[in-house]
Amino acid sequence: MRERDYVRLIPEDELVRVKGLLRRVYNLRSWFNDTESISRAWVNVLAAAQKPEGGGWKLDFDIDQVTPSQLSALCAAVELYFLGGLLAQQIRKSRRPALKVLPGEDPRDPYSWLSGLHDDNTIYINANRWRETISDENPMNFEGALCTSKLEALAHALGHELVHAVVLNCFPDIDAASVAYLPDDKHGPIFMLLNKKLFGHVGHASQRLFNIA
Ligand SMILES: [Zn+2]
Repeated sequence: MRERDYVRLIPEDELVRVKGLLRRVYNLRSWFNDTESISRAWVNVLAAAQKPEGGGWKLDFDIDQVTPSQLSALCAAVELYFLGGLLAQQIRKSRRPALKVLPGEDPRDPYSWLSGLHDDNTIYINANRWRETISDENPMNFEGALCTSKLEALAHALGHELVHAVVLNCFPDIDAASVAYLPDDKHGPIFMLLNKKLFGHVGHASQRLFNIA
C-alpha cells in the first residue's frame, strides 16, 4: 500500500500529533529520513551492539545464550539512534515502567511472531523464532530491509516493537481506541506511517527470501 493511500485514512487531529512527534524525533536525532541516513544508522547500531558496552553481540548469536542485559543494550541503541531518546524521556516523564526486553517465550503466544510488546512495556523475543540462520546466502527481508545476519534482523524487529512502544507511551488514547491504529492487530495506517518515517520499514511483515532450513 502506498503512503498516500494509507495516510488519508488517518483522522486529521491524529495525523497532526503523529507529524509533531516525527518533527521532535528528527530534531533530537538530527538526521532526516533519507535512505542513505537510515542505512547508516542501522550500520551504526550494529557496530555499537558488537562492542562490549553494547552487549558484545555476535552477528550469528545463539538465542539460548542471550541475556536480558544484552537485549536491553541493543534496544537502547536502536532507541537512541532512531528515536533520539524521545521514547525513554516520555516513559520517564509519564512514570510508566521502563522498557524491558526478555528472551524466551511470549506468554500470550509462544509462536506468534518474532517479538511482541506488552502493555507494561515488556518486549518478548520469541526464542522459538530465532533459531534459524540468517546470512548472505539465507537473508531475511524485514519490512523492506534486507538483513544478512540474525543481529541485523533482531535490531529491525526491536525497531518494529519500538513503534508500538512510541504509540503506547506517547499516544495512549490512540493505542487504546484509534481506528487508524488498531486494525490488523495494531498495524493500521498510523503504525505504517511511523514504521516508515522512523525506521524506513515498509509494511509490517518479515519474510524469508530463501528458506533453506
Ligand atoms: Zn507489530
